[in-house]
Amino acid sequence: MNFKKHFGTNSKILLIALFILFTGTTYFAVNFWSPKASQGTDNKTLSFYAIDVGQGDSFAFFLPDGKTILIDAGPEDAGKKVVSFLKDRGVKKIDLLVATHGHSDHIGGMHKVLRNFEIGKVWDSGFNHGSRIQRDLYKIIKKKDIPFGRPKRGYAEQFGDVNVEVIAPTILLRNTRSDANNNCLVLKITYGEISFLMTADMEREERATVQPLPHATILKASHHGSYNGTDTRVLREVQPSIIILSYGKNNSYGYPHKSVIKIIKKEGIPRYDTADGTFKIETDGSEMKISRNSVNYDK
Ligand SMILES: [Zn+2]
Repeated sequence: MNFKKHFGTNSKILLIALFILFTGTTYFAVNFWSPKASQGTDNKTLSFYAIDVGQGDSFAFFLPDGKTILIDAGPEDAGKKVVSFLKDRGVKKIDLLVATHGHSDHIGGMHKVLRNFEIGKVWDSGFNHGSRIQRDLYKIIKKKDIPFGRPKRGYAEQFGDVNVEVIAPTILLRNTRSDANNNCLVLKITYGEISFLMTADMEREERATVQPLPHATILKASHHGSYNGTDTRVLREVQPSIIILSYGKNNSYGYPHKSVIKIIKKEGIPRYDTADGTFKIETDGSEMKISRNSVNYDK
């Protein structure tokens, strides 16, 4: 694993300083950031945030051209936090709001998001889970007359210099272990040489319809680090430089699964967990900088 190419000189110096400071801890920690830090103001930086929403997913992309993409909004009780998080960063409009699938740990917080921001369009997985939360969401989208799409594999859209490609779903899957998870909307977001594979809660059955998975710099491990989300083959296909695990501390499901932790470690891929707090990745399309507190995952 060579991180040198991803970090600038300042980051390297800071990295060394922090390593000395936190001797005994592993992995790297660079640049603690101020919550009010501006993003994308130089028209070259893409800022990505993995938001700590407890047990769930929510990821914000602030694009170089000033547009905002939000993938999921965490569970219902995190809606307020996601709204404040975006407002604190000056967001007024979400250009693309993605509901990866109908489970409440992904779309529970979305009602508040829809109520508080102008929304350019919503992308949805195309699978009707039938839950109250999903039905309510569709109602609000319809009432507000928000453009709504259910894109499938092969569809891609350009947001300035950033490409958003639909990796899955391909076809509607039925009678899987979890049909909601196995019809997830999976996206690859690419800016220059840096890419994010956002796998939502895709499980084995959906994955089998799209393998081999594309290479990506950053892999959001599927299904909160569940055993059915990530295996060695996934890691070898994607070849990520970084893995993101999104889950709540001491969640009742036992995420992340110990087998996933083991293979991530075995493949030597640095890992960032939202359970240890929100973190930011900034990139100019060639280098990337990660901001978070130091966490020791070896203990
Ligand atoms: Zn989930």
